[in-house]
Amino acid sequence: MKAPFNFDNTYARELEGFYVPWKGAEVPAPELTKLNIKLAEELGLDVDYLQSAEGVAVLTGTHAPEGSESLAMVYAGHQFGGFSPQLGDGRALLIGEIIDTAGQRRDLQLKGSGRTPFSRGGDGKAVLGPVLREYLIAEAMHALGVPTTRALAAVTTGEKIHRNGLEPGAVLTRVAASHLRIGTFQFFAARGDTQKVKTLADYAIERHYPELKESDNKYLSLLTKVIDVQSRLVAKWVSVGFVHGVMNTDNTTISGETIDYGPCAFIDHYDPNAVFSSIDSQGRYAYMNQAAILQWNLTRFAETLLQLIEPDNSDKAIELATKELEKMPVMYQAYWLGEMRAKLGLATGQDSTLQDGDEELINSLFEILKNDHVDYTQFFRSLSKATQGDVEQVQSLFTVPENFNTWLRSWQERIESSQVAVDSIAKQMDLVNPIYIPRNHKVEFALKEASEKGNLKPFEELLVLLNQPYSEVGGKEDFASPPPEGTPQCVTYCGT
Ligand code: AMP
Ligand code: MG
Repeated sequence: MKAPFNFDNTYARELEGFYVPWKGAEVPAPELTKLNIKLAEELGLDVDYLQSAEGVAVLTGTHAPEGSESLAMVYAGHQFGGFSPQLGDGRALLIGEIIDTAGQRRDLQLKGSGRTPFSRGGDGKAVLGPVLREYLIAEAMHALGVPTTRALAAVTTGEKIHRNGLEPGAVLTRVAASHLRIGTFQFFAARGDTQKVKTLADYAIERHYPELKESDNKYLSLLTKVIDVQSRLVAKWVSVGFVHGVMNTDNTTISGETIDYGPCAFIDHYDPNAVFSSIDSQGRYAYMNQAAILQWNLTRFAETLLQLIEPDNSDKAIELATKELEKMPVMYQAYWLGEMRAKLGLATGQDSTLQDGDEELINSLFEILKNDHVDYTQFFRSLSKATQGDVEQVQSLFTVPENFNTWLRSWQERIESSQVAVDSIAKQMDLVNPIYIPRNHKVEFALKEASEKGNLKPFEELLVLLNQPYSEVGGKEDFASPPPEGTPQCVTYCGT
């Protein structure tokens, strides 16, 4: 059994002033609820060690393994449009960076490990339901090919924490390419500390985009790069029906990974205005508003970089940054179209370029899906069957089939014009259209059972399906279906 973590803590070493060294709070009776064995192996960690008493103490932040330099990060952020100059890890702890078996640098971070100097009024804790929620959804997103932080472990602490009544305390261990956020830049920019912003930007470039070091204006290039990776990310969210729910600038990464699974949810029926979060009453972070909000967040990022882009000419800096920001909708649209064309089988074969009429075909589909409240995930998965003439399954999803039938004929003509064998198109569609997504009612049931009864079976059952979302498993039809009629609309909560 080896304890070693292959630590190499650049954040602690190079970014003094960007964090406070910190430790996890003592907990009465830590117990490992779930360990992601495959991920642990990918990280080069010893699975037996992580399951030992000492390993579990590492996963709650009470034991610092050799080489760890645990710390709480500072950051700021715009939350629902209002600026909070002082946020930071109020209940999280970076235990260090490790180099995984593929040579990639990954942050190991605990969430729910106790109060820090940035806790403000909070208790620094997390409870089992939301910890397992982040576990399930992060792993589902990964299996769906969406860049994301990962879940390595969930540990219960033996405490009872006040939330909706008393709930079991828990700590999540998450793994990320880094925890650099737009909010990290904002923290120092808001204090007028350009030198610190520069240190941070140089660090971000070195860590994530070293190729930019050679560019003429590397800070402008950093902006362009983050616009690119985030546009790609949000297009992927939209393609799988994901609503993040709290796209504050402190929850927007520089790496382009999804972070902070709080009030997020997946849509069942297609609804561009879908909102699940209890506090998003204005729909700021609604499903189809996510690209617009991303541009708003990236504008806040650009503002932090202006002094670096053109130190002596703010007009020029604004002009250059604005030009990049204005490209974002075009970039996003290209990514979104790429995702949608793949889902519809329009990107297969040698001639996989966008054809005249593709965009109209896609837009008209969404109009029909919206009007008929069609289940988003079921629709795309059923459509592949229609390539071979089995149209009944997809037609059965519509209560008013006339409009859809017209669309279907146009789509079939388009598919036939591509001169690719239909079974090959169907196969490719099935590779990008999942059967299983984290359906809200299934997630809520699994978490309730775990949290209230200590029954982890529904969580495990759901996780198995979400880990292989494209492969059909017999007898699990209800996991591929919308909630039964009469199920109340899902409402999600922040800060849990
Ligand atoms: P989030 O909505 O999870 O992105 O969190 C926003 C901010 O609130 C972050 O600075 C968190 O560290 C902090 N926070 C959330 N929950 C707690 C808690 N229970 N105790 C202390 N800080 C918290
Ligand atoms: Mg956050």
